[in-house]
Amino acid sequence: MGMTLTEKIVARAAGRQTVEPGENVWVDVDLLMTHDVCGPGTIGVFKREFGQDAKVWNREKIVLIPDHYIFTNDERANRNVDILREFAHEQDIQYFYDITDRADFKANPDYKGVCHIALAQEGHTRPGEVMFGTDSHTCNAGAFGQFATGIGNTDAGFIMGTGKLLIKVPATMRFVLNGDMPSYLLSKDLILHIIGDISVSGATYRTMEFTGTAVEQMTMDERMTLCNMVIEAGGKNGVIAPDSTTLDYVTSRTKVPFECVHSDDNARFFSDRYYDVSQLEPVVAKPHSPDNRALVRECRDVKVDRVYIGSCTGGKTSDFVNAARLIQGRQVKVPTYLVPATQKVYEDLFTMKLNHQTLSEIFLASGCIEPSAPSCAACLGGPKDTFGRLNEPEVCVSTTNRNFPGRMGNKQAQVYLASAYTAAATALTGFITDPRDFLT
Ligand code: SF4
Repeated sequence: MGMTLTEKIVARAAGRQTVEPGENVWVDVDLLMTHDVCGPGTIGVFKREFGQDAKVWNREKIVLIPDHYIFTNDERANRNVDILREFAHEQDIQYFYDITDRADFKANPDYKGVCHIALAQEGHTRPGEVMFGTDSHTCNAGAFGQFATGIGNTDAGFIMGTGKLLIKVPATMRFVLNGDMPSYLLSKDLILHIIGDISVSGATYRTMEFTGTAVEQMTMDERMTLCNMVIEAGGKNGVIAPDSTTLDYVTSRTKVPFECVHSDDNARFFSDRYYDVSQLEPVVAKPHSPDNRALVRECRDVKVDRVYIGSCTGGKTSDFVNAARLIQGRQVKVPTYLVPATQKVYEDLFTMKLNHQTLSEIFLASGCIEPSAPSCAACLGGPKDTFGRLNEPEVCVSTTNRNFPGRMGNKQAQVYLASAYTAAATALTGFITDPRDFLT
């Protein structure tokens, strides 16, 4: 019997020829990522268990990224970033993407933005490798054909000291997405559709492997959206087999060698689900769960107070390009918040053009609020002064990934998760709107 892509990566990292789903194995870690929210806790565990003067196992395999609560006057949030900075200097950590000057992030070449997209853009997401991060959306990196998953501070502290972790091998659920993507559909619609089918616990501790002709046609931005949200179905990791699209992206960003891995033809999958994407329609996840799926056209009477385009899920360059396609030459009817995931995405807003206008010019001419500094911003609520935070019980259509009560701030707020197309169409009417109303 062959192995799946994930089983092969885990086997290699465990120094084994084969592994079986359900087995517990020790794996060697290729990369550990932590950020300002969980980094201080991880560092605390590391120092408590390995000693105040202990050295990390490998200063070149740890990435520290402040990204969550950084553009705020909240003293405790700022202290978290200071702890990361002190630790990075003490340990001479190679990859510390600091936000040294909160007032002018643009002048700071070290600052990158939201960890999951920054990791990809800085060449840290490589096929065949094992990455752990103290953030549940670390699964985003599975888009590059690697094993990537979120862990808690205790596991991360242990990895800091040893470079190893004991994990159970997940069984793989395969999702075969075939057909031509309709012009009004984005991969956000596909993953919301799948989560609606299998529920928020439908892939608990399993791998979600995406394959099929629709996936092969996708850009890396779109593949990341699929893998980013597997945790919303309880998935341990998401994964897409590396191909020429992957290699073009990765090799233009890193010289580090890596080895591509693919599922064997005779691999054993826990389940197979088939989708003809050409038959699917735009969907939203209604409050208060990512599996509370509805067709966008069934929600036309839902009046919204604001639209939010941002996060590691829906704040990538392609998300803003797609939103701009609908918004160009029109006026938004509700406050529309734009939060680029990373510094690179932010720069793209001011350099990429559609019909001779930069994305930023398109958004500003349409009445959108000026794009904010790149960060997690209101995706996770955050301190009261966070850009875009839902401080009132408002209704928001958002390109983020979670809509639990209070996720974006106020516990009575209602968040509808949607694609960048649906978010843009909604901004133009003030009601949840099917992008087909504007895309010809
Ligand atoms: S953008 Fe949102 S989902 Fe992504 S890492 Fe930040 S808080 Fe988490």
